[in-house]
Amino acid sequence: MTVAACVVYIGLGSNLDDPVRQVGDALLELREMPGSQLLRHSRLYRSTPIGPQDQPDFVNAAAMLETALDPFELLDALHLIEKRHRRERGVRWGPRTLDLDLLLYADRRIDSPRLQVPHPQMHRRAFVLVPLHEIAPQLTVPGQGALAALLAAVDTEGLRAVDEVATG
Ligand code: AMP
Repeated sequence: MTVAACVVYIGLGSNLDDPVRQVGDALLELREMPGSQLLRHSRLYRSTPIGPQDQPDFVNAAAMLETALDPFELLDALHLIEKRHRRERGVRWGPRTLDLDLLLYADRRIDSPRLQVPHPQMHRRAFVLVPLHEIAPQLTVPGQGALAALLAAVDTEGLRAVDEVATG
């Protein structure tokens, strides 16, 4: 059976072991993911951590893919990439080499123990909304509304594109 390709959005984040490289490498790996095509990705953004403050800043980005993988196959593929980056699962909101979140899968809403889509925290997080808005300004988040309106409601202070950081 041929599975129709769906447009999906992935959130990327890292704050350990050279986060800019971790996120850059992960984007390359998303490009190579089976059954999928990387359509677009945002710039990299630096953000101050939520949760424990005694940890390095995060680097975040968002990616738009077309995929023939179903949502659970896609989650498995994302976990495989995280594993290659030796992600340390431990402290909630603690440091991590790579975190990949499935933000949106077409206009689907999924609520299973392993997978919730849209990602349940995404509409509150500037570090998700800003990069996502850069690549898909017209997007609507199922159950939450227009991405632009969600973005207008969060504090984006403390979030900077990495190239802006580099050039001061
Ligand atoms: P975290 O440590 O916060 O990244 O949570 C990882 C776990 O969240 C994974 O084991 C997933 O099964 C689960 N999960 C639920 N919904 C999602 C989602 N939309 N994207 C990524 N992981 C998810």
